[in-house]
Amino acid sequence: MDKPFEPECSFSERATQLTSSAIREILKVTERPDVISFAGGLPAPSGFPVDVVRAAFDKVLVSNGRSALQYGPTEGYAPLRAWVANDLNSKGAKVAPENILIVSGSQQALDLLGKVLVDKDSKVLVETPSYLGALQSFSLYQPRFVSVASDEGGLVPEALTESNASGARFLYALPNFQNPTGRTLSRQRRETLVTRAASLGLPVVEDDPYGELRYAGEPEPSLLSLAADAGAHVIRMGSFSKVLAPGLRLGYIAASRKLIDKLVQAKQATDLHTATLTQMAVYEIVKDGFLDTHLPTVRELYRQQCDYMLDALQKEFPSSATWTRPEGGMFIWVTLPEGIDTNQLLQKAIEEKVAFVPGEPFYANAPAPRNTLRLSFVTVPEDKIRSGVAILGRLIKAQLA
Ligand code: PMP
Repeated sequence: MDKPFEPECSFSERATQLTSSAIREILKVTERPDVISFAGGLPAPSGFPVDVVRAAFDKVLVSNGRSALQYGPTEGYAPLRAWVANDLNSKGAKVAPENILIVSGSQQALDLLGKVLVDKDSKVLVETPSYLGALQSFSLYQPRFVSVASDEGGLVPEALTESNASGARFLYALPNFQNPTGRTLSRQRRETLVTRAASLGLPVVEDDPYGELRYAGEPEPSLLSLAADAGAHVIRMGSFSKVLAPGLRLGYIAASRKLIDKLVQAKQATDLHTATLTQMAVYEIVKDGFLDTHLPTVRELYRQQCDYMLDALQKEFPSSATWTRPEGGMFIWVTLPEGIDTNQLLQKAIEEKVAFVPGEPFYANAPAPRNTLRLSFVTVPEDKIRSGVAILGRLIKAQLA
């Protein structure tokens, strides 16, 4: 076999900031099949509608193959943009298809927003803790992160003040089943949040890839749907990754026409447009209401998995530990007694072939608590959830003893 070739090159300043975290290195071992991994953020593959996706790609290629294989507009496939706008409006938003940009996964939306809204040292407000992938995306544009307080109910709207919002480019918020904590904002907090953001002139980026995966409680209105009445500027990001499959790499941004125009220019530089064939196939899947029948199955699967893990935590973890009880999504956030360092706990857990993500990297600013961790429960079968949580419980109790 040929050796990989390794010529030298001079990296840009930006590239030199891209580092692989120590955690990422440790978590590489979690890809081994003998490791019980609660670390990944992957959706459950058993929920992927493989046959439906295959039939949709077939149909598009047979009926419209030449258009499906052609370049397309940067804004996205028009019928899919219209479908997204319609779907948002059916849940209280007031947007037109021109307000929608289709992107190659909502992760691309994060990068594009960083590109067009963030300069070096721009102030960006984030929850405490927040989605690591967003912190990493925005970091490339060298912002100054300002952490906004969160509690058991998620982001505390009253913590948005003249002083922290002044001059900020935006607040990045995750109102549903937040990654990493699984927390959800109450209706009241959402209303207060958009009202305060409006009066502070603070744009809010609403990242909501998990909103459709609610398996308990009642759906809350999106920040976008509350924005119009409050006079707030909400930029919403959504994704087909958790409702269909992440390998499709399909998401969207809903924003003002002016911002969409800028994002379109930035996206042109990145990839010209999101894959035409994929957009057409996904439109084929969703246009007649497939998600209405598909999502209840996925929600039930996730509810069951979540229950297994909550039950195992109750049985195996010391009573001095606390954890969130998500109403949807994929994550539980655990807070261990002060003094337990979850980075060290991870080393021990890996030796026993169990993995999780320590909480520290999810905090944009020091000091980050060292006693928190994120557990993902959707891909691990019940017996392994139980045995993996039992191992973690034993290791934690040993440290406490
Ligand atoms: N936002 C959040 C909060 C996420 O958890 C993820 C994926 N883990 C993304 C955005 C990116 O998702 P995608 O690019 O697959 O749409």
